[in-house]
Amino acid sequence: MRKSLGGIFIEDHYHVPHVCKECGGVMVFKGVGEYHCEKCGAVDYDDYGKVRLYIESHRGATAAEVEAATGISQRSIRQMLKDSKLEVMDGSKVMLRCAACGQPIRSGEFCPRCETKMHRAMEAAQREELKRDMKGYSVSKNGEDGQRRFMRS
Ligand SMILES: [Zn+2]
Ligand SMILES: [Zn+2]
Repeated sequence: MRKSLGGIFIEDHYHVPHVCKECGGVMVFKGVGEYHCEKCGAVDYDDYGKVRLYIESHRGATAAEVEAATGISQRSIRQMLKDSKLEVMDGSKVMLRCAACGQPIRSGEFCPRCETKMHRAMEAAQREELKRDMKGYSVSKNGEDGQRRFMRS
């Protein structure tokens, strides 16, 4: 959902509380998904704040447990992890797995090893392309050295 605030459009997919449930006052953002009513001081949270709060007091909670407790869908929770808004904490049961090898990861989409592997594959493909472009030149002599230099950087 998009909301217009003074001509500025902001994405509101975390269900930001705008109005106080207690008194109807304006909810003021206090950071990390927390909002305080400027009139009565009531505290409320957006989806990110709710998930964060729950995980902080329930270390090791699974995505399913967080969903059951907060009412926020596992899909949204995963999106927060992908946005790197959230990180799976130490000692937590796995909430995210690498999309390539299935290893548990803390945030993002791939584990560092698969991410590196993917980059290496892209680099190798790029090198092949370069080699094809250089057909007719002698690349076999310094090809090995060139590759080593690439790997080190
Ligand atoms: Zn209020
Ligand atoms: Zn992986």
